[in-house]
Amino acid sequence: MILITGCQSGQTVGSLGDPLLAAPRQTIGVRQLAGRLGLDVASSGSCSATLRNTANTVTVFKDPGGRVYVNGLAIGPTGGITCSNGALLLPIEFESAIRRRLRATPPESPREKPTEKQAKPVRKRRIVIDPGHGGKDPGAIGVLGTHEKVINLKVAIDVAARLRRIGHDVHLTRSTDVFIELNDRAALANRLKADLFVSIHANHNPRPTFRGYTVFVANKASAASKACGQSLVTALQRTGIRNLGLRRMDFRVLVRTHCPAVLVEMGHLSNRAEARLLEEMAFQKTMTEAITSGIVSSLPRL
Ligand SMILES: [Zn+2]
Repeated sequence: MILITGCQSGQTVGSLGDPLLAAPRQTIGVRQLAGRLGLDVASSGSCSATLRNTANTVTVFKDPGGRVYVNGLAIGPTGGITCSNGALLLPIEFESAIRRRLRATPPESPREKPTEKQAKPVRKRRIVIDPGHGGKDPGAIGVLGTHEKVINLKVAIDVAARLRRIGHDVHLTRSTDVFIELNDRAALANRLKADLFVSIHANHNPRPTFRGYTVFVANKASAASKACGQSLVTALQRTGIRNLGLRRMDFRVLVRTHCPAVLVEMGHLSNRAEARLLEEMAFQKTMTEAITSGIVSSLPRL
């Protein structure tokens, strides 16, 4: 059997390239925009921002390829999104384009969003989170010089903390920059009799324009693994990263794990825009929220 170690092989390619608008006449800061649209600023950085209310998630990405996603769907105008003093500025025409796509918020709790603390898990689950690579194995090296292992670890630690806060028993295959054999990662999940194994990675492709997130399950994945994978695919749409969907690949950590197992490739470090996003703390928060949400919503089906 040929086992693939992850983030090393290319995938099928897709076309890219978002057209840019002419220079905007008038711009609006992301915080002002949020206020005018009745949204809270969940995260804001120099490359991306996430705005929310009880019914909507709006994600804004800076140029190049600057886009706005409303509830996972790309909208209206493209480009012209810049950064000033660490916060994003958008052409004013985005306001009406976003407003048209917003869902109505429930009148009884217009500004209240249930937090992870408030949401009680149906049942306590044992979950193994596996930050890919580590130590002598950097994983993919990004176009900006970022080592995949660093981003994987940051996101994994945060996902684990969020799952623990809502009462789950969470174990990390590594919590520092150490090398762990692939078999040992799967063995930990098997030894713990885990309910779910989630491996976290960032991808690489020879084509620098290729981008997107992917969730993998093994070729002979169980129905539970596939359900979890699909739940993660759906949840990650809110990040605004291009959705490459649920795919099958016999990564060793998926094949050797007895419990439901998925591997998330959060985006492509070989793509400049995605590398910049994945490095940014604000976007890492958006990513960890999405992964946590995808895991939590899959648990009743495990
Ligand atoms: Zn990897």
